[in-house]
This record gives sequence, C-alpha cells and structure tokens, in this order.
Amino acid sequence: ARGVILTGLIGMDIQGSRSPEMHEAEAAAQGFALRYRLLDLAQPPEQDADLAQTLEMVRAAGFAGVNVTHPFKQRVMALLDELSDEARAIGAVNTVVFRDGRSTGHNTDSYGFAEGFERQLGGVALDRVVQVGAGGAGAATAMAMVKLGCRELVIVDPQATRAADLVARLPGGIARAATRPVAAEIADAQGIINATPIGMEGHPGVPVDAALLRPDLWVADVVYFPLETALLAAARAIGCRTAHGGDMAVFQAARAFDLFTGHPANRERMAARF
Ligand code: NAD
Repeated sequence: ARGVILTGLIGMDIQGSRSPEMHEAEAAAQGFALRYRLLDLAQPPEQDADLAQTLEMVRAAGFAGVNVTHPFKQRVMALLDELSDEARAIGAVNTVVFRDGRSTGHNTDSYGFAEGFERQLGGVALDRVVQVGAGGAGAATAMAMVKLGCRELVIVDPQATRAADLVARLPGGIARAATRPVAAEIADAQGIINATPIGMEGHPGVPVDAALLRPDLWVADVVYFPLETALLAAARAIGCRTAHGGDMAVFQAARAFDLFTGHPANRERMAARF
C-alpha cells in the first residue's frame, strides 16, 4: 500500500482555507491518501515559529510539498533551492515541492487566474486592461495577461514602488504604471482586473468607483470570498461580463495537486466540489 502523501499550507490567518478539503477529497477520489495540514503562523501551536523553521520542519517530516500564502509568498523565495522560471518572473511562490532533497518554488496562481479567465471571459478584448493592485495576486494576474495576449496592461497601486517593480519584472513589455487619473485610464480600457483585497470579507468596498463602469467593460476579480464582490455586483447590474475569483482558487489548487502528487487533478471534479 502507498503511504500517505503529506502536504499543507503555510500562512497567517488561514483557518478559513478550503484547500484541505479540495486536496484531500481529490486524492480520495483518485484512490490514495493525502493529508493537507494548515500551518497557521498566526495561531498556536505554530504561532512563534518563523517561516524558515516551518519550512525545514515540513521538509524533515517528509512532506511532498506545501502551498504558501499571505504574507510569505515573496519571503519564501530566498529559502528555496530552485525556482521555476514562472515563479521567478512573477516574483512570488505559492507552491513548494520537495524532491530528491531539493526544494523548488512554483507559482500556480497565474495558471489559476488564466484558466478561470478563459472559462468565464473567453474571447473578450485584451488591447488595453487596467489592473488595480500590484501585490502577490497582482503579479500572478499580470503574468496571466501576458500569456493570454494582452497588449497593454495599466497597473494602478497606491504603493508606487510596487507598481514600478511589477512593470520592470513582467516579461513581454506590456505593462506600464498608470500615469493618469484612474477614470481616464479606465475610459480607454476594455477591462478591469481587481487584484486588491477590497471586496473580500473584512475589506468591504470597491477598488474603483462603480460610476466608472460601463456595460462594454469586462470586470475580473481575484477575491473569492464572497464570490460576488460589490464590484462584480455593480458590474453585473449594468450588464458587464464578469469573472469571479473562485476558478482561480480551484485551478491554482489543481496545478499544485499535480505538482505535489504527480497525479493530474480532475479539474471538473475539483471545481464542482468548490
Ligand atoms: P497584497 O497585500 O500583496 O497586495 C494588494 C495590493 O493592492 C497592495 O500592493 C496594495 O497597495 C494594493 N491596493 C490596495 N488598495 C488599492 C486600491 N484602491 N487601488 C489600487 N491598489 C490598491 O495582497 P495579495 O496577496 O496580492 O492578495 C490580494 C487579494 O487576492 C486577496 O483578497 C486574496 O485573497 C486574493 N487572492 C485570491 C486568489 C485566488 O485564488 N482567487 C489567490 C491569491 C490571492
């Protein structure tokens, strides 16, 4: 009999994560045992552990890998032996795989966003897109825009160095930091991506003034709790095409499952369960 595959998530305030259920149920459906442990560094018993110690602990315990989330996606990079090209270009790691004594960092958020985008917004115009938020999620959505063929991606973030860093790192030369007021940038765009936490539970509000929306704009959100944010609700109310963040959550998990186990996750089954 095969042993239990050990995986998990390192982050802070992650008790609401649906990843344990998604990963464990998919493994069970495929006929093998997998445990997905939450290693919440904001909670006892892991509260005083640091990221490096936690990573070393799970490696030594024989974990196949771990997901990494807020606030560690950037910090973990320096602790790994190798990075995938994509993780390096994005500048963030959400999946670490331990194999043959080495740790490799991957980023599956970009894949997850791209898959969700194509499912919910396939065929929309991508000549000019405005993205609000240039943190970890924003780096992944920007990379997805490169892959999906966006021609010009305008990055808005009140932390100007974050926007500038993302523009400098992103391959393809499609990104620029916003130079005009957001209203003017949106007036010329075909779509808006929210890559800020605004709209999620605990962060109410809208990341851009709903009065700037038009029916011909598409709107995509990375937030998935709730699935319909105030921004998406306002957009749908005037007839915009929209994409929620739920598919991103499912497909980033599916690709991480592939990497942890070597067995491709059944995407439809994982999505249906979510
Ligand atoms: P982060 O803190 O790294 O980055 C957020 C960025 O948004 C910051 O740079 C901040 O300055 C910027 N910002 C805040 N308010 C803004 C505004 N009004 N206009 C423009 N920029 C603004 O956070 P993160 O890790 O990137 O996460 C962002 C959100 O993405 C969270 O809600 C998280 O849950 C979600 N997320 C979803 C998935 C998924 O699978 N669906 C995956 C990753 C992250």
